[in-house]
Amino acid sequence: MSDRTTPTDPPSFAAGLLPAVLDRDTAPFWAAARQRRLTYQTCDACAAVVFFPRRHCPGCLSAALTWHDSAGLGEVYTYSVVRNSRDPRFADRVPYCVAWIDLDEGFRMMSNVVEVDPDAITVGLRVRVDWRASGDWLLPVFVPADPALPADPAVPAEPADGAPAVGSGDD
Ligand SMILES: [Zn+2]
Repeated sequence: MSDRTTPTDPPSFAAGLLPAVLDRDTAPFWAAARQRRLTYQTCDACAAVVFFPRRHCPGCLSAALTWHDSAGLGEVYTYSVVRNSRDPRFADRVPYCVAWIDLDEGFRMMSNVVEVDPDAITVGLRVRVDWRASGDWLLPVFVPADPALPADPAVPAEPADGAPAVGSGDD
């Protein structure tokens, strides 16, 4: 892929978090993400909810998997706030929250919880998906479903590096 972000690219929201592999198992997920659709699979044979994207059901090994759009609503299963990073791709982003999110459709995914004071994040916090641009990619992140929670004091209203904030605010 000629458009893959390299370490020499300018920093952006998710520099260093871009998918390292774009294969036929995950390509539909990333294509949907470009349309701001969070997708998951279910197994036609055993009805298991499948995430991350796979070619076969991890429960019964059936290859009959069907894609669905998630409503993008869920809650924080657990999380960690990173307050110190020696990785230069992340050092200027601290503190930031890495979380496992339980989506209402029954799958769990790792992401970031953004636009909220990290100290206001709790297990069980209701969140909704939002999207952040990084190069040609749109990456799913999560914001509090309750907009009354305190904003992240470390994040300026507009990204300092000029990367557009996608799907937040005025749309
Ligand atoms: Zn199955």
